Amino acid sequence: MTAITNHMPTAELQALDAAHHLHPFTHGDALNKKGARVITRAKGVTLTDSEGHDYLDAMAGLWCVNIGYGREELADAAARQMKELPYYNTFFQTTHVPAIALADRLAQLTPYDLNHVFFASSGSEANDTNIRLVRTYWEQKGHPEKKAIISRKNAYHGSSMGSASLGGMSAMHAQGGMPIPDIHHIDQPYWYGEGKDTDPAEFGLERARQLEAKILELGEDKVAAFIGEPVQGAGGVIVAPDTYWPEIQRICKKYNILLIADEVICGFGRTGKWFGSETFDINPDVMTIAKGVSSGYAPLGGSLVSDEVAEVLNGCEFAHGYTYSGHPVTCAVALENLRILDEEGIVTRVGSETAPYLKEKWETLAAHPLVGEASVCGLMGSIALSPDKANRAKFAAEAGTAGLICREHCFSNGLIMRHVGDRMVISPPLVITKSEIDTLVERANIALDLAHKQLKDEGLM
Ligand code: PMP
Repeated sequence: MTAITNHMPTAELQALDAAHHLHPFTHGDALNKKGARVITRAKGVTLTDSEGHDYLDAMAGLWCVNIGYGREELADAAARQMKELPYYNTFFQTTHVPAIALADRLAQLTPYDLNHVFFASSGSEANDTNIRLVRTYWEQKGHPEKKAIISRKNAYHGSSMGSASLGGMSAMHAQGGMPIPDIHHIDQPYWYGEGKDTDPAEFGLERARQLEAKILELGEDKVAAFIGEPVQGAGGVIVAPDTYWPEIQRICKKYNILLIADEVICGFGRTGKWFGSETFDINPDVMTIAKGVSSGYAPLGGSLVSDEVAEVLNGCEFAHGYTYSGHPVTCAVALENLRILDEEGIVTRVGSETAPYLKEKWETLAAHPLVGEASVCGLMGSIALSPDKANRAKFAAEAGTAGLICREHCFSNGLIMRHVGDRMVISPPLVITKSEIDTLVERANIALDLAHKQLKDEGLM
């Protein structure tokens, strides 16, 4: 049998991929007809494909490679741990040093008293944990009827049955029988897209108060928790108006509802502080983490909970756990990643230097005739494509048509941006330099020019 390696011709790799590999969030036939892009290696913020093309990865993979590609220290940490103890579980009254050390480090890094962690291997698993965890918490407190969890439309919390039910993506709910019972969705705080003529501050309050209305509709004694991303990532990098989070916080306190901050994207430096909860002054009872905790070098997720929640949970056997909860190799990789993010001042530099620089450069894109808004939060950015920017108008074509056209021009000009409908989003590695930010914005401008021309030529605007 011939080995399948990077040295094989691209067409052969694509044919094998098409024959045996089902891709996530992909129309299989359409992809297999043209062949997948084969990525072969990466360094810093740059990816290289099997044809030798380089791309500036302005998405840090899937919002996760915070530390950048090619850090050998993480590979060494994994190898050391694999040689010493490649696997053991944390069930049945056992533990091991990597899990102890990572739990301790996370307790130090997270704000407030989120001092206890339940490990998983992904954000989806961690959010599934959260569903059972918050319901078990209320059962333990003598309120088994407090089961409902309130989330937002267009939220993303994962792809498993539980986490995708928490999410508010209608296309996902349409497949496979979701949402599961007792999950409810209120409108998102997306002023640009849904605020019409209202003042953003008022709109933020109005959207937050939908939580209060939903709690009153369901009954205060029926609601376990509210979950939200500090900034909606996969929904299009949507930053709520300033009035939103304080009001959500007030409502959760008033009605005794647990607040879950899903920090899978926002955590570990993305917003310019260690956690989005610090940037937006959110004081959650439960925090979901994944992605940046290990910079994607190994799969890891988790649920951080407050002292009070942990005390209640510890009063029973929480009948829940994954084979890879607290996997020693992923914990060792995450510890090394967190050491580097901290000791090299990477998170601090995002807050003080790179995020302000990105903001200055990125917001210049708002002047482009195709761009209705260009905004940045930390090292996350978005632009809304619009055929009539003065009116924040949407395209007549199916949502995502213009976004896809723009994304393809990004790819052919050496830039990886993602499109969410007709919003373009970025979330580059936190180690991106100022000159790489210049390149990113230059390439984005070129792609916008080309997309603008194509949209006009095809009569789409
Ligand atoms: N929560 C949020 C906010 C996310 O962005 C994601 C992934 N994009 C998840 C949860 C799910 O994480 P995973 O893909 O690791 O299961």
